[in-house]
Amino acid sequence: MAQATSTSTVHDVVVVGSGAGGGTVTKVLADLGVSVLLLEAGPMLNMADLKEHMLPYQVSHRGAGARGQAYTGGPTGFTYSATYGGAQLEGEPYTVAPGSDFSWFRSRILGGRTNHYGRVTLRMSDYDFKPKSTDSLGFDWPISYQDLAPYYDKAERFIGVTGTVEGIRSAPDGIFNPPGALKAHEVLIQKSCAKLGIRAVSSRQAVTTVARNGRPPCHYCGQCGRGCMTASNYAASYVQVFPAMKTGKVQVIANAMARELITDASGKVTAVSYIDKTTGSERQVSCRTVVLAASACESARLLLNSKSPRHPQGLANSSGKVGRYLMDTVGFGMSAMVPALSGMPHYNTDGYGSHLYVPWWLWDKHKTLNFPRGYHIEVGGGYGMPGIGSFTGIVNRTEGYGVRMKQAIRDEYGTSVGLSGRGEMIPNEDSYCEIDPDVKDKFGIPVLRFHWKWSDHELNQVRHMQQTFRAILEGMGGQIAAGGRGGRANQPVTPATQAGQRAGGQAPQTGQAGPQTGQATAPAGQPTTMAQQAPANGGVPISRGGAIIHEVGTVRMGDDPRTSPLNKFCQGHEVKNLFVADAAPFVSNADKNPTHTIVALAWRTAEYLAEELRKGNV
Ligand SMILES: Cc1cc2nc3c(=O)[nH]c(=O)nc-3n(C[C@H](O)[C@H](O)[C@H](O)COP(=O)(O)OP(=O)(O)OC[C@H]3O[C@@H](n4cnc5c(N)ncnc54)[C@H](O)[C@@H]3O)c2cc1C
Ligand code: SF4
Repeated sequence: MAQATSTSTVHDVVVVGSGAGGGTVTKVLADLGVSVLLLEAGPMLNMADLKEHMLPYQVSHRGAGARGQAYTGGPTGFTYSATYGGAQLEGEPYTVAPGSDFSWFRSRILGGRTNHYGRVTLRMSDYDFKPKSTDSLGFDWPISYQDLAPYYDKAERFIGVTGTVEGIRSAPDGIFNPPGALKAHEVLIQKSCAKLGIRAVSSRQAVTTVARNGRPPCHYCGQCGRGCMTASNYAASYVQVFPAMKTGKVQVIANAMARELITDASGKVTAVSYIDKTTGSERQVSCRTVVLAASACESARLLLNSKSPRHPQGLANSSGKVGRYLMDTVGFGMSAMVPALSGMPHYNTDGYGSHLYVPWWLWDKHKTLNFPRGYHIEVGGGYGMPGIGSFTGIVNRTEGYGVRMKQAIRDEYGTSVGLSGRGEMIPNEDSYCEIDPDVKDKFGIPVLRFHWKWSDHELNQVRHMQQTFRAILEGMGGQIAAGGRGGRANQPVTPATQAGQRAGGQAPQTGQAGPQTGQATAPAGQPTTMAQQAPANGGVPISRGGAIIHEVGTVRMGDDPRTSPLNKFCQGHEVKNLFVADAAPFVSNADKNPTHTIVALAWRTAEYLAEELRKGNV
């Protein structure tokens, strides 16, 4: 390893990572007048690189790749989708312990995964913060809904979130901008749910439908999963970091892969060591405080790799809990062909993704269920812009070519709908990450090894999803596609998520993505085939660990330093100038997609940090 070089400047705050957590901290601190040095492992985002209006026929080989990879499962590359990561990053491996099954999606770009995520934006409910008090399982958060609600408010006002006020306890209302109208398949789903006593409501998406902070309203191209040239949807890069840079308070060092936190004899962090990826040299930046926001598992990795005589188990880890209680979302999907949608006039399903979702409806009926907690349902379907790899399923199933083939495609197009369950996992002792003692990445940094286990709680939840989804789909006359799948299978394959899923380079294995043919679609960059569900798990088609890309936990917050590395402000119990601002501080993983809570929590942490700096406490 080359000699580390350093500068004499001591930065007030060094933020590591520029995704939802790092972008929020950077923007909030800059607005409060605090100077920030932001280290980002990926390159700068160039808005001109966003590809949401590019059509498949504008790409060489229609995006199939020189060897037809789009149709055979290989990567389709950056050109079409503008995705900057995946579960396989060249030279940056991770390992999975024998007997475990885990997939880890990472993005290396300013803004991280927020550039192309699904943008489902849900508040956690009051009871989600106190799960142990409710059913004796897992752990309570050291904060309550009331502590975070003002920050959900701030985030929604700033970002713009669609939705309608519904008064449902499991889905707290927020400050919404007007949602898009429901599409034909969504009206059918809503009616079928109503027959079962289930309420389906407007989706809550991080999309501004009104002009906001210089961002024009959404123009409904329906391709959010591939970025947004007009910055109408939320990405930390163009909604937070670029505006923060304009304040003059923020310096960004791109292509800077943080390797280790350096501490002094008192145990405080004094510097961050990073690899300058453009030269391969190691450098150090001195800091008064550091905020880790490299994503939950990367932040745990950094702490575990920051060993010193004073911190032999890694930094902030005398509890031994860094890396522990890793959670993902429980995932299951089912789709059906709906004859009622056949022969309808085709239109381009204007919108920003799914406009409908189903909040958990049995939150007060747990005594009647054989699993704890709950799930929500995301829906997919409609006439999305055909993407790269579209229609290979129908092509494989239909004999002939020319007019006959085209007619078959037209007949089937838009007749399929999909339901995706997104449920809560209970933290367990068998799901965690640690440093692999034998494997290093191309920078010489020891990598993570993952351990994973679902419990009966999650498996029973998926069984319930299976029964419910079948009832909803059959209630609208749907003919269910064989089976049902875990992973991001049949994730709402609106044009936006369709693109987002493909974005990582994985084409639909067969046929149109998701609901179009009932074929599952891999998450962006997913290296495996569609058969993602582990053969274990009693044959229950639950998602692989990590496949829903909602990994949280690993550096949890809590009042007791013996069991939690962080306090209730996401500050190190034993390292006061260390803060964590991604999903690592999560204590549980409610059925709500995590990014809204990451942003709210990071906002709160940034305000606390600014005040502590002002008081001279850190
Ligand atoms: C296809 C897809 C769909 C999704 N859909 C949804 C959804 O609908 N709703 C939702 O809530 N969530 C969704 N997610 C998850 C969401 O993207 C994440 O929850 C969110 O981006 C996490 O934010 P973060 O700041 O923790 O990490 P990230 O967004 O991953 O950002 C971390 C940043 O840190 C950088 N970094 C990592 N290591 C280092 C290092 N050592 N040094 C310097 N920089 C480093 C990375 O390059 C990256 O830019 C989805 C994700 C994907 C991929
Ligand atoms: S649909 Fe999505 S990508 Fe298109 S303009 Fe609206 S927010 Fe942007």
